[in-house]
Amino acid sequence: MKVAVVGAGIVGRLITTSLLKRGCKVSLFDKASSFPERNNSASLTAAGMLAPFCELEYGTKEITKWGLRSLELWPKIIKELGSNIYFQQKGSLVICHPQDLNEFSYLQREVDRHGYRECYKVVDQKVINELEPCLAPRFNKGLFFPHEGQISPDDIFDAFNENILPHINTNFRTCVKKIENRTLFIDRGKEEFDLVFDCRGWEGKQDWKSLRGVRGEVIRLQCHSQLLNRPVRIMHPRFPIYLVPRPNNELIIGASSIESDEAGDVSVRSCLELLSAGYSALPELGEARIVEQNAQVRAAFSDHHPRVERNGNCIRVNGLFRHGYLLSPAIVEKALELAFNEDTLCISP
Ligand SMILES: Cc1cc2nc3c(=O)[nH]c(=O)nc-3n(C[C@H](O)[C@H](O)[C@H](O)COP(=O)(O)OP(=O)(O)OC[C@H]3O[C@@H](n4cnc5c(N)ncnc54)[C@H](O)[C@@H]3O)c2cc1C
Repeated sequence: MKVAVVGAGIVGRLITTSLLKRGCKVSLFDKASSFPERNNSASLTAAGMLAPFCELEYGTKEITKWGLRSLELWPKIIKELGSNIYFQQKGSLVICHPQDLNEFSYLQREVDRHGYRECYKVVDQKVINELEPCLAPRFNKGLFFPHEGQISPDDIFDAFNENILPHINTNFRTCVKKIENRTLFIDRGKEEFDLVFDCRGWEGKQDWKSLRGVRGEVIRLQCHSQLLNRPVRIMHPRFPIYLVPRPNNELIIGASSIESDEAGDVSVRSCLELLSAGYSALPELGEARIVEQNAQVRAAFSDHHPRVERNGNCIRVNGLFRHGYLLSPAIVEKALELAFNEDTLCISP
């Protein structure tokens, strides 16, 4: 079967990997290169947190369910991608400064309300200091979610480029101007396939009018040593942030959440807010080097749920919002079912 995948973000890459395993002849199209500049790619800008419980602050129980399914699927996908991929499940820690302790209540209430009370522990200063010695002795109370994890988007892109690209027909730097059922319109003319997967992220908006853009900004730091063992979220009434450690002593500080579809560079204001909130939690960051700053657009529907829909021979997957890594394994599983199993229902409102 001849299949086209349009968009080589995390969704398009995982769909391509699954299609290849099924023996399909896959053509992958992306207007960017195979390892795009970060400021061309939401998937490369992402912090890579896999946080099905903490994300209840922004989502619903459905997100948690898909996130838990994805956590089950990631180890198998990593094996299929076949290279060293930084993936860990050492949990995530949520903290706040003593004056902001009320900030815990909303997250705790949402997690409890959805029946996941057993999925976190309330921890005191001693436990926080054991989990994350560099945070000592500034935080007295925290919430620890031991099942949550993280993955490195860079490693996934590298592994995919090395192990999957050689087996498919690649069309990078190729803009797909229009998708009509199973026909793609590109500069060199029309191309027809048996099946098309539309995974254009934010730029799928031209065919998905209810999609909205939410700008997210991150700053990447090079630290002198590994300062954290796991993602740490700092609750704050105005500047909630997360600190996410990466291999080679890198650390990501993110992220703003602004109702805007403008990508590119981080604003001065967001830069000040992210860095000062990070520095106040972890003063060692003062000597870290800023190696990158980047703003990207998260594609979202109003309920923050992703959509998987089929129209003729075209399957569209979009709206992964702030959950591309958290949800894509489960959502891709659903998209493949929808493509190959007549009885499957769409994920749509
Ligand atoms: C700051 C920030 C932090 C984030 N942190 C996390 C996190 O910690 N955990 C998590 O799970 N998620 C996170 N996310 C969300 C995650 O990045 C997105 O949900 C995910 O990238 C969406 O993937 P996608 O494949 O749908 O879209 P994209 O990554 O946007 O990929 C779409 C691809 O389609 C290509 N394309 C578009 N139009 C065309 C066209 N016409 N022709 C050809 N190609 C085209 C684009 O070039 C692009 O490569 C974060 C997002 C941001 C912005």
